[in-house]
Amino acid sequence: MNIHQANELTNRLEDALPQTQCTKCGYPDCRAYAKAMATGDALPNRCPPGGIEGIMRLSEILAPIYPQDAFALHPTIDLECGVERPRPVAFIDPKKCIGCTLCIQACPVDAIVGASKQMHIILAEWCTGCDLCIPPCPVDCITMIDVTGDQSGWNAWSPALANIARERYKARDERLEREHRDNEERLAKKAAAKLIALNAELPNSEVALKEQERKRAIIAAAIARAQQKK
Ligand code: SF4
Ligand code: SF4
Ligand code: SF4
Repeated sequence: MNIHQANELTNRLEDALPQTQCTKCGYPDCRAYAKAMATGDALPNRCPPGGIEGIMRLSEILAPIYPQDAFALHPTIDLECGVERPRPVAFIDPKKCIGCTLCIQACPVDAIVGASKQMHIILAEWCTGCDLCIPPCPVDCITMIDVTGDQSGWNAWSPALANIARERYKARDERLEREHRDNEERLAKKAAAKLIALNAELPNSEVALKEQERKRAIIAAAIARAQQKK
């Protein structure tokens, strides 16, 4: 399979995944799992949110690269990834939340709003039920509540919800990238201002001169590193 074909297969597999970005498959996101399947490094039975129906959909797409029917060989979710279950939505107990923001940082689809030392809330319509906000909460105030009755896997989810989750995940990635860039720029400006201030100093002794040179070298190295990163 050439690179173009591998990309095309990855895209088709990714389109068939639920996009909760939960990492239960053992990969950092749905795209990474799709890539691993396309290269034959992962089986199609590692996505609990997609459930059995999900394995079937992925196996159909993978048929050209598997000599035998992948679904017949792996008809159930690999237990190391979790189990198929009704879709839950996270809920934060307002009485217990201490406003630490750790859950916001963990949420892959920006479904949590709040600010430092203030109560946080979940925007249920965006929550994919990925569970990723649970472990970082220091006061265990997040609960997952089933919202789809007996329906599980793709019966509790839809391509439309998957598309929304994928778009929100992408938007979050872009936001984090933008914030990182802005922060780097802010630090670079601060370093440049410090260098100007340092250069304006007039050392009145050999020791002070050496100290000025030492500081100048540190700041210049930091600026060079920042420029290299750009
Ligand atoms: S929904 Fe979760 S388990 Fe399924 S592919 Fe995406 S990240 Fe992996
Ligand atoms: S609120 Fe929690 S469970 Fe819901 S999407 Fe965000 S991290 Fe996942
Ligand atoms: S991690 Fe827990 S305590 Fe911290 S803001 Fe989120 S819900 Fe509140």
